Amino acid sequence: MKVKIPRKIKMLTHPYTIKFDEKVTLSAGTIGLTRHYYQDICLTRELPPSELNQLFLHEVLHTIERHFNLKLEDQDVDRLSEGLCIFLFDNLGIEFVWDDIT
Ligand SMILES: [Zn+2]
Repeated sequence: MKVKIPRKIKMLTHPYTIKFDEKVTLSAGTIGLTRHYYQDICLTRELPPSELNQLFLHEVLHTIERHFNLKLEDQDVDRLSEGLCIFLFDNLGIEFVWDDIT
């Protein structure tokens, strides 16, 4: 089943824009970044699909962490996102489609 990644997600009352923005990610020395102040999730476009999908889930988990007041280490967020990848992609057969993200 294909699932289109939306341009915006909402975590409780907080809207986040999903976008490819290498200026932001590279200047932060990373490939993905959640900026709560700007309410956006910035991703690096040129990644292998499995890496991009896992990175996106990782950043979504950061919005959950922030707004549900969880205290997780980044490595925990990484492990959880890998676990979600196994469940969503390998078990449910979901495929993310990035056509709407610019
Ligand atoms: Zn992280």
